[in-house]
Amino acid sequence: MTDYQLIRSKRRSLELRVLEDGRVQVRAPQRASLRMVQDFVDSRRQWIADQQQRQASRPRQRWQDGATLAWRGEPLQMDVCEGRTRVALSGPYLSVRVAEPEQEMAVRSAVEGWMRRQAKPVFEDSIERQFHWFEQQGFVRPTLRIKKMRTRWGSLSARGYINLNMALLHYPADALDYVVMHELCHLKHMDHGPGFHALMDARMPDWRHRKTLLEQPLFQP
Ligand SMILES: [Zn+2]
Repeated sequence: MTDYQLIRSKRRSLELRVLEDGRVQVRAPQRASLRMVQDFVDSRRQWIADQQQRQASRPRQRWQDGATLAWRGEPLQMDVCEGRTRVALSGPYLSVRVAEPEQEMAVRSAVEGWMRRQAKPVFEDSIERQFHWFEQQGFVRPTLRIKKMRTRWGSLSARGYINLNMALLHYPADALDYVVMHELCHLKHMDHGPGFHALMDARMPDWRHRKTLLEQPLFQP
């Protein structure tokens, strides 16, 4: 029998997810009976096994002593020890102190918390350096929101927010600046038409090269 975590929500249908670590989650409407949920999981056993297999064979970030973390385009080696939670950059090392150094989830949560704190000044700096021209054109500086997104590097909302993916911190500064410039150009052109590309070419002539930096695989298998 498959172990799974059941999450009740306002949704209307059942949904199955296999997480990165192979755990299974079922999202179900409030009224769905346990029997119904179990039948659903049983009926998708093969799909679950296939997903778990795929997740296991996919290269993934490890969160343990000696593992490598890509930080702004450079590899950092995690130096994980037991202690009061503290994460600090020290040359090519990322020193991580956590109560349970053997628990990858604990290490991950400490490092991601640290990354989130680094993100704000780094992202604000990139916006600051590149917004000047837009300011002269009379545009209002968008407000930064930092997000963990699965499929996008960034977005610009009509309500005045620039959303940036926290994972940009893994890539070189040139790649972050490219994403910020791309979103800022949406202040003037909401689509990706010729006007948008002409503005990108004018503001950042080497943007195509910078874009390729985001296509490099981060983690070695
Ligand atoms: Zn765009």
